[in-house]
Amino acid sequence: MGINSRGDLMSQYFINIYDAVKTMISGMSLTLEHLRKKKDLVATLQYPNEKWPQPDRNIGFEHEDYNVIRSRLHVDIDDCIGCLQCERACPVDCIKIDTIKPSKGVEFDCGETSNDTRKKMIVPRFTIDMSECMYCNLCVYPCPEECIYMVGGPNEPKHDIDYEYSKYVKHDLVFEFSNVTDQQIVDIGAQSYLDERNSKIEKINKGTTLRGNELIESPVPAAAAPAAAPAAAAAPVQASDTLDIKCLDIIEDKTLKTPAKKVFFKSKRAGEDDIVKIDKVIAEISKIDGYTPELEQKLKELL
Ligand code: SF4
Ligand code: SF4
Repeated sequence: MGINSRGDLMSQYFINIYDAVKTMISGMSLTLEHLRKKKDLVATLQYPNEKWPQPDRNIGFEHEDYNVIRSRLHVDIDDCIGCLQCERACPVDCIKIDTIKPSKGVEFDCGETSNDTRKKMIVPRFTIDMSECMYCNLCVYPCPEECIYMVGGPNEPKHDIDYEYSKYVKHDLVFEFSNVTDQQIVDIGAQSYLDERNSKIEKINKGTTLRGNELIESPVPAAAAPAAAPAAAAAPVQASDTLDIKCLDIIEDKTLKTPAKKVFFKSKRAGEDDIVKIDKVIAEISKIDGYTPELEQKLKELL
């Protein structure tokens, strides 16, 4: 290897070091620049808190050219007459509607639709669960007032296209369209509807808190409570069946122990309580020689 080629290698070595340092510095400066201008330069959005603006352009068709659009369902509730046709048409039952007619003798104006149809009832509940909706549009066609529709497309003049309805929890995808107030429900004479709805809400709210098994207290009459003290005092003489036959091993004399065990065993099989068992044992062996008052005392102490 000549001197020249060795010099080339050395210079290449330093060039490589220079390139590496230069690349590292330019990379780091880019990173620092992004850190400094985080808001402007970072491409990812903190969705759904941040959202891209909706593009102006459409996908190549004019809105009126869409014959069917699959988007978000909307109800112009002031035009709804509560005929339930959409609810009945829905194959997955994701539309729920309640209607109330004015009670007899109650003067209540339910209003008119924009097609001048006089409404005969109010709609205190009109929910659509968009998490279950399959965008079939079947609820749209039968509506006599054309007040339920998918937004955008041919319905653009009625409601802008709205593709954005992400939610944190599934339940928030149940959209309520009714604008009937509690006062209107009372005025139409349907206080019972209100009460029933409130009790359902209360039940649901209770159900959202997991409380585990609750102790069900037995309904002890208040007057019976003071009687508890004397009962506790009498506890030693309460019927029980806890004594084991081995307890008779305190009898050392075999001539007493054997008949004592026989009587005890019989009494246990008969299901008698401990007091009776010991009484019978005492009665049996007290006639036999060797029985003493001390032994009797010991036997009674077993209880
Ligand atoms: S689009 Fe279909 S699934 Fe959705 S609410 Fe209407 S009928 Fe039901
Ligand atoms: S079909 Fe139309 S008018 Fe009838 S309940 Fe449904 S939204 Fe209301």
